[in-house]
Amino acid sequence: MKFGTKAIHAGVEPDPATGAIMTPIYQSSTYVQSAPGEHKGYAYSRTHNPTRTALQNALAALENGKHGLCFSSGMASIDAMIKMLRPGDEVVSTNDLYGGTYRIFTAVFAGLGITFRFVDMGDLKNVEEAITPKTKLIWAETPTNPMLKIIDIAALAALSKKHKCLLGVDNTFASPYLQNPMDHGADIVMHSVTKYLGGHSDVVMGALIVKDDALHERLAFIQNSCGAVPGPQDCFLVLRGLKTLHLRMQRHSENGKVIANWLAQHPKVDKVYWPGFATHPNHAIAARQMRDFGGMMSFSLKGDDMADATRFLSSTKLFALAESLGGVESLLGHPASMTHASIPREERLKNGMADTLIRLSVGLEDIEDLIADLEQALR
Ligand SMILES: *Cc1c(COP(=O)(O)O)cnc(C)c1O
Repeated sequence: MKFGTKAIHAGVEPDPATGAIMTPIYQSSTYVQSAPGEHKGYAYSRTHNPTRTALQNALAALENGKHGLCFSSGMASIDAMIKMLRPGDEVVSTNDLYGGTYRIFTAVFAGLGITFRFVDMGDLKNVEEAITPKTKLIWAETPTNPMLKIIDIAALAALSKKHKCLLGVDNTFASPYLQNPMDHGADIVMHSVTKYLGGHSDVVMGALIVKDDALHERLAFIQNSCGAVPGPQDCFLVLRGLKTLHLRMQRHSENGKVIANWLAQHPKVDKVYWPGFATHPNHAIAARQMRDFGGMMSFSLKGDDMADATRFLSSTKLFALAESLGGVESLLGHPASMTHASIPREERLKNGMADTLIRLSVGLEDIEDLIADLEQALR
């Protein structure tokens, strides 16, 4: 089945009770048993809920995986993944990553005896050097946030196989429409479902997708034991959002391409970071592992003056200044003070993240209106 057909049909069956074509919101915490222990696969909604099951199956299909697990947020899904590890275990992580992921690694799990090594994965030598016999997981995000670097998933997968550890990929920025990390050898795909998968800025949710049955069993055990599950209303909203994922991603990518090129030629703009440029240092990898280049980009202003950036960020009318990304509406953000404030300034600068860097999540509005908004704000 091709992607758009899967986005509409995968995981959902007409409701067995009524034939309802849309999976109902099973707003029930418990399920009646015909005799002790005899039930229809559903005993208690922390463990299983039919609306959540449909969504989990849909996400597994869209990522070319076998099993999906949904959590109450993207961070809860990362939390569950790291809880597979034990004190003394090590993780090699990209250094250009979501601020909240950096925070849970360094401020929660490092204190429980897990060691995290942050490296620039643009050079695979750095990854190989950081791997030790205790390394259990390689953790990557690509495209990275907010520098839009591209990491070679297939090359990381080869390293993870060689060193017998797992490869996990945060696929939030790309969405399964633009990239399927498992096709390149990843073991775990993570999503902040909050972003492109939900797509309408009305749900907070996370997901893990795997192929391996034993890995799924372990993660499902943690999902049920720790209990950070999403409710059925939210699962319904995401099931609805998924039905237009392919259409939305096509338009995000089209609008993104026009805006990236427009910014690149603007006299007030310094650097533009977008993997679709043939001049992007990782363009060849992006062209190989992604189907298109999406609507996420960052740029800096000529002069790198914080006052200019602040004025720009407060001057757009359509682009809303807000955390998050991947919704139908265009957003802009200032990573240094918003999404990445929990990463120390020296770490940010080391990674090329200027204080004035501005991140855009290009939405689905008409391109003429988006360009006009950026133009008046730059003026
Ligand atoms: C938002 C985000 C997360 C965290 O997800 P929540 O749903 O906000 O908990 C993780 N990774 C990336 C890349 C994100 O953008």
